[in-house]
Amino acid sequence: MSFARRAPHRAALGVLLGAWMGSSTADAYNLAHVQGAPDVPLAWEEGAVLPWVVEHHGAPGVSFPVARAAVAASFEAWDAVETAALLFEEVSEYTEPGEVVDGINTLWWEVSDWAEDPEVIAVTAVSHYEDGTIVDADIAFNGAHFQWAVGEPGAIDLQSVATHEIGHLLGLDHSDAPGATMAAEYVPGETAPRSLTDDDRAGASALYPCPDADCGLPGAGCATAPGRGPGAWGLALALVLAGRRLRRGNAPRGAAWVLAAGLLGAPAPAAASVVGRATVLDVVARADVVVRARVASVEPYFDEGGRVRSLVTLDVQRSLRGGVGARLVLDRLGGTLDGLTTRVIGAPTFEVGQDLFLCLVAADDGEFAPVGLWQGRFVVDAARRAAFRPEDGNAPHLSLDTLEAAARAYSQARIHP
Ligand SMILES: [Zn+2]
Repeated sequence: MSFARRAPHRAALGVLLGAWMGSSTADAYNLAHVQGAPDVPLAWEEGAVLPWVVEHHGAPGVSFPVARAAVAASFEAWDAVETAALLFEEVSEYTEPGEVVDGINTLWWEVSDWAEDPEVIAVTAVSHYEDGTIVDADIAFNGAHFQWAVGEPGAIDLQSVATHEIGHLLGLDHSDAPGATMAAEYVPGETAPRSLTDDDRAGASALYPCPDADCGLPGAGCATAPGRGPGAWGLALALVLAGRRLRRGNAPRGAAWVLAAGLLGAPAPAAASVVGRATVLDVVARADVVVRARVASVEPYFDEGGRVRSLVTLDVQRSLRGGVGARLVLDRLGGTLDGLTTRVIGAPTFEVGQDLFLCLVAADDGEFAPVGLWQGRFVVDAARRAAFRPEDGNAPHLSLDTLEAAARAYSQARIHP
């Protein structure tokens, strides 16, 4: 499919979608919380020392010592927050693979079988109990589709991405404050996210308040002995590229990476609003499969590492692209079983009976994954012929007719290249 052919569609629909853009919510950090319980934040037990370990193999393009040092510096950025009681400890035990609910926070690179949208560059899977207590958080970096580096122009900066993901490991969701480490955008080559802003520090301090205001001093940690509770759940966070593909460090100028976040509803500097306006179109354009479907069942199960996954069975009401049958089953990381929840923060959750407009891409494992995590899942309000993404906050709903028209337009572009 040629970009030139698609350009007129993109321009016309861009105007329409742009008109739906909401303006901003408050500039502030956001805490991740228990699904359906906004007053119950996700957090590690008070006083816990959080153990972490980096995969021995290092990152594609980065040696293990360099990767380890970059990750250590990322943890140190959070450890140094004076008003937050955070203590981390590097441990030597490395379990392979890293995606195991074992209380050890493993950072590792998936180099061959990335199970999400190929343009998602990292996910943090957090496992937690019903009361929000986090018991395990493992960070997976996309080593199958991206080259990693430390401080190289135009490349994905491991230390910046790790610092962001560690914020998710702590229980922070994306921030609405532009420029924050926990903000939803990352431009390749940028190293600013290595340094926390006041907004990031405020978020960490809200979750882990320090009783005596010197928690950032070396050796003055507020934490005591590890005291994690039993059980685990998963929360995964993700960096998503919304826009043209940036691969192997060949980043086009001006392109932006988008962490899974409510970009459409976020306050936006000029560059971000351009990305945000294009996001819905890019989601539709990038999808291998676009369907209108109802969630028939959600069956959670434990994977080999003790994390909860779910088989999501969809009754396909309308296939707009991809020619799938009347039933489609998604096998996704995330779900709740026996009191344990695993969650990829930034990934959509599915509930029986939901009426959805879904944009899916084929992942390396042959399964279908939502485009850009939450960005490919729209909830349909059938009575209003509208669709919305809860993650977009207060952004106005989208016209279902226009979404379907967009899906058809790109389909036609594919048929007549
Ligand atoms: Zn993120």
